[in-house]
Amino acid sequence: MDGHDLLERLRGTGDLESVGDAPEHERPARRRNVPDLSECITHVVAGNRRMPVLKAMTTTACERDCFYCPFRAGRSAMRRVRITPDDLARGFMALYRAGAVEGLFLSSGVVRGGSSSQDAILDVGAILREKHRFRGYLHLKIMPGAERDQVLRAMTLADRVSANLEAPTADRLARIAPSKQFTAELLDPLRWVHELRQSSEGRLRASSTTEFVVGPAGEPDVELLSATERLHHQLGLARVYFSAFRPIADTPLDNIAPTDNMRRIRLYQASFLLRDYGFGLEEMPFTADGNLPLSVDPKRAWAEVHLREAPLEVNTATPQELLRVPGIGAKGAERIVAARRKGTLRRLGDLRGAGVANVERAAAFLLLDGQRPIEQPRLF
Ligand code: SF4
Repeated sequence: MDGHDLLERLRGTGDLESVGDAPEHERPARRRNVPDLSECITHVVAGNRRMPVLKAMTTTACERDCFYCPFRAGRSAMRRVRITPDDLARGFMALYRAGAVEGLFLSSGVVRGGSSSQDAILDVGAILREKHRFRGYLHLKIMPGAERDQVLRAMTLADRVSANLEAPTADRLARIAPSKQFTAELLDPLRWVHELRQSSEGRLRASSTTEFVVGPAGEPDVELLSATERLHHQLGLARVYFSAFRPIADTPLDNIAPTDNMRRIRLYQASFLLRDYGFGLEEMPFTADGNLPLSVDPKRAWAEVHLREAPLEVNTATPQELLRVPGIGAKGAERIVAARRKGTLRRLGDLRGAGVANVERAAAFLLLDGQRPIEQPRLF
């Protein structure tokens, strides 16, 4: 199988899951050397690299019946594809050698149990690593029902593994995927990944992620973010993905309204505040119904309440305090601390000169040497 054949067979299967470290920016990668068939190739940020990654499935057949999924059992409109591990590995390597992709995300429907489907995924990983000597980025999915030894094997082959919880609690999952067992099939594999990583003394480096389908189970944002916070802190997940629900014809949820994509964006923003910016769940600006406001990003909403009337003195604030100011990220906080060593910061221009990118967004929440900054309109 060549790369063109593989893309042809995967057509229409690749846009359902996020893969990299900046999922809110993932887009199909239009590659000049793969005309018209590149919908399964996505630009992904992984580590510090941005790269094109092929999203593939060993099969789109499935014996489960998750209500939101186009691949669910019995859905006659779905074209079912099965690709042998050898063919998939060969087609991927052809794309890799042509420079069309640099990595692979591999998933599957469930056929003859999760363990059997996991074996097919592991076979592809092993063929790539051991036969083709592929050393690039590999993200392998953990199937519902996979065994602990299979999870270990996936971690020895892959840079990243993922098991999708789909919903934040067992009760919510039962509303959208009643044939999946929340704890035994989805949460336990994520626990095993964490345990194996911790007990391996650095030998197993594979990071782990999960994904929630946002909306159809009726869960408020506070449930999603509470689960997210625990997954980051207790199970060491690198990323929690949020997929805005889209109704699919001929499924039990085809009459449910789609989830506003802005909700997904706000969830990502809040999850980054929890993971990277030192915020706690109780500091998120939830409304009475447990959701984040859609009209304002959560960091700004927090700052409006806490910093608008009590702005932060740039010259004495800790890096952690600076991180809470809208417009100041990790790099900006670092640059401010470095600039302070050379002298007192008195004007917005001093912040710009230090390399802080979003000075205008930060200005309303700052003091510079005891004074609120004055923004001078640009004349030229
Ligand atoms: S197990 Fe996966 S592929 Fe199968 S129906 Fe559920 S979500 Fe879809």
